[in-house]
Amino acid sequence: MHNLSTPRLKPFLEYYFDGNKIYFFKNPGTAIEMDDPSGFISSVCKLMDGQLSLSELSQKLSTAYPYESQYLNGLLDVLNETYLLEDTSAHNSECLTEYDITRWERNIEFFGAYTKANENKYALQKKLQSIKVTLLGLGGAGSHLLYDLAALGVHHIQAIDFDMVELSNLNRQILYNETDISSLKTTIAKNRMEQFAPNATIQFINKRISCSEDIEQFIQNQDIVISVVDQPRETIIDWVNTACIKHKIPFICGAFDWKWALCYSVMPGETGCIECWKTNARKANLLFHDFAQKEGFVTATAPNVAIVPFIAILTGLILTDFLKFVTGISKPISFGKLWAFDFDTANMSVIESWEKNPQCPICQNT
Ligand SMILES: [Zn+2]
Repeated sequence: MHNLSTPRLKPFLEYYFDGNKIYFFKNPGTAIEMDDPSGFISSVCKLMDGQLSLSELSQKLSTAYPYESQYLNGLLDVLNETYLLEDTSAHNSECLTEYDITRWERNIEFFGAYTKANENKYALQKKLQSIKVTLLGLGGAGSHLLYDLAALGVHHIQAIDFDMVELSNLNRQILYNETDISSLKTTIAKNRMEQFAPNATIQFINKRISCSEDIEQFIQNQDIVISVVDQPRETIIDWVNTACIKHKIPFICGAFDWKWALCYSVMPGETGCIECWKTNARKANLLFHDFAQKEGFVTATAPNVAIVPFIAILTGLILTDFLKFVTGISKPISFGKLWAFDFDTANMSVIESWEKNPQCPICQNT
């Protein structure tokens, strides 16, 4: 049962009444249809303006629709359950400044599509402002993610990298210019972000990660870690895993494997960790990781392949799950799963998933 005070249809919603049925166009290519031979639903939709109270609305309808108006509450329940309604009295914007409301207006409208009438869309933007994120890596994916996180309205970011800008980075690392070559990425990124997101608190740390303790020292008060570092190739993910599991911090990872963009995540205490994943994979067959430990293994002679459309897709996957995790508007896909995009077919699918291993040496106590 709804608890509406001053309802209206969501402002981005389009609808059409043909004299017999009303069609709400919420999803592409389909419409929500309702029979409306008397025009009652159409009249309710026209009258609800976010100003009129429920009793005023009922009063106006009772003259023109003396029989149908008794069904007003039932109709509003249905419209609310299908996410077509909002209640202007529930949307309390006091948690944000006027500047915030303007800068993130389109975000807030997006959140409005996910909120039922008694939920506050502004509070979801506030969640983004409040979360503390550590971003490991300011290379291909990391340079996009830093801009994107700030664009989303994330206000507390810790960005860690040790590298300098090189000419060959500029096919994909959009934070940097040719004049930045040979400068530290953290220094250049700091300058860019001071202009793009002056209200955000972004800490730039120039540090080469070489063990899990290096990660631990930075993440202890953070809410989530995003890792897009790929060096050292076989060990960095174990360090992220160990540090994040120890401090019970969820993490989202992104990587490339030839023509695949890969996103996978761990929620300590809920999903299996990276070690659990490896144990699961070993049951099926030998892991690449295990081959890489063998004598005679031939290591790659060139760095990972990386091309800009792929980077944009990978960062899109990471940010999609980040946004779902922070706001709760929908269920993240990659937690305890390997979510992959295939460049050839453009298929996006979960290609592996893993359970928590009760004997896992890393996460059994979480
Ligand atoms: Zn584990």
